[in-house]
Amino acid sequence: MPFTLRGDDVCQATPPTPLPNLYWVAFSPAVAKLIDLEIGNDGLPKDPEWLEVLGGNQLNVGAHRFSNPISTAYSGHQFGTWAGQLGDGRAILLGDINHLELQLKGAGRTHYSRMGDGRAVLRSSIREFLCSEAMHALGIPTSRALSVVGSKQAVRRETMETAAVCSRIAPSFIRIGHFEHFASLQNIVRLKELADLLISEFYPECVSTQDPYLNLFKEISARNAKLVAQWQSVGFCHGVLNSDNISALGLTIDYGPFGFLDHFEIDHICNHSDHGGRYAYHRQPQIMHWNMACLASAMLPLLELEHSAEESQDLLRSALEEFPLIYAKEWQQAFRLKLGLQSEQDGDIELIERLLQAMHDSKVDFTNFFRNLSNLKKESKLTEILQRDEFVDREHIDQWFADYINRLQSETKSDDDRKKLMDAVNPKYILRNHLAQAAIEKAQQDDFSEVDVLFRILSKPFDEQLALHHYSKPPPLDLQRVAVSCSS
Ligand code: AMP
Ligand code: MG
Repeated sequence: MPFTLRGDDVCQATPPTPLPNLYWVAFSPAVAKLIDLEIGNDGLPKDPEWLEVLGGNQLNVGAHRFSNPISTAYSGHQFGTWAGQLGDGRAILLGDINHLELQLKGAGRTHYSRMGDGRAVLRSSIREFLCSEAMHALGIPTSRALSVVGSKQAVRRETMETAAVCSRIAPSFIRIGHFEHFASLQNIVRLKELADLLISEFYPECVSTQDPYLNLFKEISARNAKLVAQWQSVGFCHGVLNSDNISALGLTIDYGPFGFLDHFEIDHICNHSDHGGRYAYHRQPQIMHWNMACLASAMLPLLELEHSAEESQDLLRSALEEFPLIYAKEWQQAFRLKLGLQSEQDGDIELIERLLQAMHDSKVDFTNFFRNLSNLKKESKLTEILQRDEFVDREHIDQWFADYINRLQSETKSDDDRKKLMDAVNPKYILRNHLAQAAIEKAQQDDFSEVDVLFRILSKPFDEQLALHHYSKPPPLDLQRVAVSCSS
């Protein structure tokens, strides 16, 4: 959708800053299709000028004229504290194709770069590319990644690295931070324009309702509640759930120091800069709820257009209370399906929670445990269950398996049918940190083959892909803690 808001207080014209000697690092033909980009036999755009466009060196290609590149203003709460104005410090919106926005991340300084260099490094761009496409393949709403284009230009982080530009696509990159921005400036006209834009383009069901802005809030909140339940169900930790990184469309956006759980550790922290564990795995739902409270408070003036101040607060407060209910329902359903339970029965939640506690206590691999669980049969004997060996407290887990098998016996599906359903929700392959790291280290030596291999595997995360089985293995002990920092 075109970002139609205009004005110096909303966005700034921002031509990308060129980089020397661009080269392809990664490219997604599936995303290219979404914007009707013609692909050659080598899997890259037929028109070589796309390399220059996606690296930020030129604005025209074929019939496309990206004549109005912009960066947008937003504000936000970072690590629980009001941070004031932030904005697209290194993201440039080139324009839109087929109602999808095309952004370049790392294409140089913008009006909102503050102390930053406006660049992204090869490492973080590969991570964003691979994870966006992996999340999409897992069925989780996300911005998509079209390409990574590299250059040898040096970029200073903790060490010297090289620059890259990741191009990404989404129906809109509007964030909670955009609302907070105009609310903090008490600019009700802009706030209303933003809400109206979202309603007309993405939440048309709110138009005809009595309280469109209240309903818009409810819908955004519901989408994000569902999103975080999906994250929990695949062991995804976002890493920086600041309100400026939360999408108004309920998409996963702004991949930084994210991580997938290897072994299940309920309080796992993937971001090494997150000293207090604010964004730990088990806190994500509560933090997303907190972000929705930020949105509610930013949207308050919109409700006050129709209601008294007190009424508006009451309406938003009770709308906010729906979040944990929607989240719990989605989470429970997601984990029921992970266990192969099609029906809902009393005791299911306790069964799920007992399992997660046991997995946490024994540091059991999250992805592989659920994947392998589909091999169990309704008539399996405890002694035949190899997965018992992964748990330290044998007596405890035996009781759990006995209760689980008992529960499976009340399901109507056959073992084979249940296995199919379970394998369609429990991925075999996820973007484990050590795999991403190995691909990055090769790419830093100009070998992009491993990025491509991972990209292909992760585009079919539920398929067995037997020849690639080793990519499903947990990291060796010495690679269990690959450091990922905010500095990207
Ligand atoms: P993040 O936590 O990556 O979402 O970034 C928070 C804010 O810092 C956003 O406004 C980003 O645009 C900005 N930012 C992050 N890295 C850079 C950079 N290298 N140059 C300019 N701005 C940046
Ligand atoms: Mg961000």
